[in-house]
Amino acid sequence: MVATIPQLLDRKRAGERLTRAELDQLVGGYVRGDVPDYQVAAWLMAVCCRGMARAELADLTDLMARSGQQLDLHGIGRPVVDKHSTGGVGDKLSLIVVPLVAALGVGVAKLSGRGLGFTGGTLDKLESFDGFSVDLTPDQFIQQIGTVGAAIAGQSPDLAPADGKLYALRDVTGTVQSIPLIASSVMSKKLAGGAPSIVLDVKQGRGAFMGDLEDARALAAEMMVIGKAAGRRVTAFVTDMDQPLGRCIGNAIEVREAIEVLRGDAGDPRLIELATRVAAEMLLLGGAATTEAEARAVAASGLRRGIGAEKLGEIVAAQGGDPSPIDEPELLPTAPVIVEVRADRAGFVTDIEPMALALAANRLGAGRARKGDPIDHAVGFEVVRAVGDAVRTGDVLARVHARTSTQAEDAGAAARGAISVGDAESEPRSIVLDRFSTSQ
Ligand code: URA
Repeated sequence: MVATIPQLLDRKRAGERLTRAELDQLVGGYVRGDVPDYQVAAWLMAVCCRGMARAELADLTDLMARSGQQLDLHGIGRPVVDKHSTGGVGDKLSLIVVPLVAALGVGVAKLSGRGLGFTGGTLDKLESFDGFSVDLTPDQFIQQIGTVGAAIAGQSPDLAPADGKLYALRDVTGTVQSIPLIASSVMSKKLAGGAPSIVLDVKQGRGAFMGDLEDARALAAEMMVIGKAAGRRVTAFVTDMDQPLGRCIGNAIEVREAIEVLRGDAGDPRLIELATRVAAEMLLLGGAATTEAEARAVAASGLRRGIGAEKLGEIVAAQGGDPSPIDEPELLPTAPVIVEVRADRAGFVTDIEPMALALAANRLGAGRARKGDPIDHAVGFEVVRAVGDAVRTGDVLARVHARTSTQAEDAGAAARGAISVGDAESEPRSIVLDRFSTSQ
């Protein structure tokens, strides 16, 4: 006899494993519109509290990946890789590595997300380019990888729609922070996206869903198991998110920072190091280099030569956007109020707390309070000092980009609290904390 949904919820609450058919009844039913939000929200919370057996997680991921079309990228005529981050503060890595790797000859099939919880989303950032469309049909997506070398699209009704619905529900029900739910969300998109090789960036720290290093490693391990079982080559980095990645937090402001790095002009050393490591891994998996050292050298030289900036322009134009800001970044949306936050004492920057900045950026309008809310692309933070920098009294620590001076004041206070200046000259933490690979 088929169990009712409340019976399945009872069993999950008690920590039992649901079968594939039962998961299909719940999650498949939700996608088809037969199961309401509140029952799925209860199941999500039970998963957060009780976890999932590995086989149960594999079934869930597979069901989610098969909830829409599964792309076949074999006919593209070049190697294709995909890349995904579990989300962090100031994480503009995809804006850098996707065009860079494509410019270096490896195709990139990138299915991205919008901001989730306190984290920003690549799609929101890219929409800072006037006219940019994240809605590509599967055919357009595949064709663009063939012609331009990369495409960046949103999860859609065609691709892993189960993740689209669950992601939005998790965002508003306190059920984002769960290893099986993040693993199935990320990997269902990656499996549906069709790339044979995948590079994962699992963030760990105060500005990530995984605060604990062991949890981040466990999340990386679960995603590797899922990828390997599906016949994909996967490398997972565990990377530091105990301070923001790079200098900027917001949307257009992060795009501007990414363009600077792509042009080889300047950039935060930790951001450049992570971009080089991740791009190198994508080149390695895509067969454009044979050793890690060679791949890193190719990626670093690509960044210095600025070839990724031109490719970003091609991607933006192919997706209906105006690429002029690549050459003239001042054409990106700008905020009417810019307020400086200054050091009230001399010393060294000892800490930049990411979560306070992320929450304040959301209050400025850079993120969403509710699903579907509009965002303000122009606002955010520019943190001009890094951990370890020496500062004098009155030096600028950060700039707030805001819509109104009242909002700028609130955000300025948040930045003052988030950026600590003390006597000790602290070393910045390494950006790459661990690396796992299916080929190890
Ligand atoms: N990124 C995703 O795609 N899904 C999550 O659940 C978290 C980060």
